[in-house]
Amino acid sequence: MFKSRKRFGNEYISIAIDTTSGEILELLNKQNGDNLIKSTPFSIPSMFSILVGSVRLSVPKLVMVRNNPDLRAQISEVKRDNGTEINIIYNKLSDGTTVYDIQLAIIIFLPDDSGKLILSADVKNNGGYDVEKFCFPIISGIYLGENYKNDTLVYPYNSGMKFHNPVEYFAKKPKSIFWRWQEYRYCYHMDGCCGVKNADGLYSYSSLYSGATSMAWFDLYDDNGGIYFGMHERNGICRLKADTFGPDSPGMIFSIEKTVENIESFCLNNVVIALHEGDWHDGADIYRAAHEIEELKEPTWWNKSVSLAAHYDFKYQNGGIVHRFSDIPSLVEQAKSLNTDHLLFSGWHTDGFDNGFPEYYADKDLGSEQDLATGLKYAADNGVKVSFYINTRIANRKFEHLTEFIKDNAVIKRDGTPEVEGYGDATISFATMCASSEGWKNRLLQAIEYVVDLGATGVYLDQLAMAPPKTCHSKDHNHRSDDWCEGYKDMLAKANKIKTKSGEPISIIIEGCSDLFGSLVNGSLVSTFISLHSGAFPELYRYTFPKQRLVDMVYPKNNLAMRPVHVAQRSSDMINKSFVTDIYFWVYDLEEDNSFFEDPEQLGYLKKVIELKKNWHQKYVGFVFADEKGISEKSEELTAKFYYKDDLCLIAYASDGKTVCDLKTIFPAELIEFNCAEGVDSVYEELVPDLCYIKIAYSRCGTILLKKLKN
Ligand SMILES: [Zn+2]
Repeated sequence: MFKSRKRFGNEYISIAIDTTSGEILELLNKQNGDNLIKSTPFSIPSMFSILVGSVRLSVPKLVMVRNNPDLRAQISEVKRDNGTEINIIYNKLSDGTTVYDIQLAIIIFLPDDSGKLILSADVKNNGGYDVEKFCFPIISGIYLGENYKNDTLVYPYNSGMKFHNPVEYFAKKPKSIFWRWQEYRYCYHMDGCCGVKNADGLYSYSSLYSGATSMAWFDLYDDNGGIYFGMHERNGICRLKADTFGPDSPGMIFSIEKTVENIESFCLNNVVIALHEGDWHDGADIYRAAHEIEELKEPTWWNKSVSLAAHYDFKYQNGGIVHRFSDIPSLVEQAKSLNTDHLLFSGWHTDGFDNGFPEYYADKDLGSEQDLATGLKYAADNGVKVSFYINTRIANRKFEHLTEFIKDNAVIKRDGTPEVEGYGDATISFATMCASSEGWKNRLLQAIEYVVDLGATGVYLDQLAMAPPKTCHSKDHNHRSDDWCEGYKDMLAKANKIKTKSGEPISIIIEGCSDLFGSLVNGSLVSTFISLHSGAFPELYRYTFPKQRLVDMVYPKNNLAMRPVHVAQRSSDMINKSFVTDIYFWVYDLEEDNSFFEDPEQLGYLKKVIELKKNWHQKYVGFVFADEKGISEKSEELTAKFYYKDDLCLIAYASDGKTVCDLKTIFPAELIEFNCAEGVDSVYEELVPDLCYIKIAYSRCGTILLKKLKN
């Protein structure tokens, strides 16, 4: 009997596969009866696509199979101990005119005991075609239930983004806010993140892992169910894509796009699709379970430290000098009056910030190496740690004595030319340096050793997990073309062996956030101000990897020159958000341009919050971030996050300080103690039989310790 589609499933999930093309045409959540595939658009590839030059190959159409039966997808199934293995084999591929000698074998594993699919693809490039990209799996037209408008997408861009109704949100044209500061020209997007269709007519939201993509999973959910889409294997350099045609043809298109750029065979393995009941935390739990990360041996001071003061105002890109090394003692005193114990120095090296990379030697205009060492000694004597800025990606091409070094260690594109990029001043051009070239890795390690020898206690490695990874086709670097992240991992592992003058491990903060580097660094800078008005949601990474520490920038409300007004307006929100999610405060202290000393009111508030956080880190050790898990109800004006340790629950909250707020937990509990940034008698318990209501009045933020009681 002819069957146009074959169904496979268990009690949780069922899929239907087209018997000619091998596409997944149904994805049924059997727990609630919802087929998630609401639309199967035919203007774009589905299931997979292989880009050979400008030709895009995908599943065969019926007419192609009639003419050449060899193009038909061969589908078979094998019963395994714990599930069913579905094999889909394409012996040849075609674009409708030419037949390509490429064999594609897809395996979909369907475990017996869960609503999960594990997909892998093996591509035999028998014809030796020049393959650019491979996209797999492509699952089209997804939304949950009857209405796409109440769906929410969480996506791991720079720790996390949250988009309510992504179908319409992605179609919305963002507003552009332009901002000038020194030589820099910034454009910020508000109320939108895409807004422009690509050649396929899609609004495409994506970024490279890793890259600004912090983890390899995302999740779409509503009140009745959800779908997890993740990759549980590295697979080289990949892009996580969440696309949509927008409200004219609703549905999300999920895929992973691997950068191939060669003529050999390749694979893309272990993509996991899982259905759940509608809580994105379930998605995070799936990903975490598949990615156990080793714990890092950290400097003893690190967990007690809660903030740093960043000085980018030694030598700016344009040569302007604000501070010299002889100012370090006064900067140490200034840090203390900010209630911080950690300084970050940028623009300290030859020719300054965004200019003299990679000449990581004390700039002579700022003083001598001895002056720098003397300043660092003053910091150490006063219990203040000092980290140094090092850019891990770029080298200024102006340095004649580095011409050979740059030529030997730059990223080489497929056409054999080096990769070049620019920042700020348009007359300065930087070579992108290959993360996997030994020469570049060694130069970075030498720079770290140099500052540590002078007395630094740590480094901030700029761009490391924020700028996109590059394929490098150098014949001399001795690495695979997609080894970018391996290079940085290797460099970080070696940097972790470097000890400070007092014999402790150095502290390492990187720009961006990635689970590939999470166990090799102490902090990851997530810069949520960039997407403050378009979905920033660091809770996504924070909950997925609660043991790792995120770092985020906070800004004053007044006299902020470096960032636009809409950022300044959210000053208190950013302080509160970093507080409740227990994110390390990155406090800029740039004279005139960006300093809390220019805004006494916010300075007062920030100092109180830092004090509260220090108290928290001293007293409550070993609590694990659980986001909002445990909250049954709360007032709208209240933000609260829960942390657990055995039968103790620590709540960090922030409110507007004007409203009396209520919080109800899902478990009965006893109030042990509380600490508030402002006010003393502002938290109390309202005992109702078997329940715990907490009332919070007139305090803008604080912590509450509860002991869970047995039901
Ligand atoms: Zn290379």
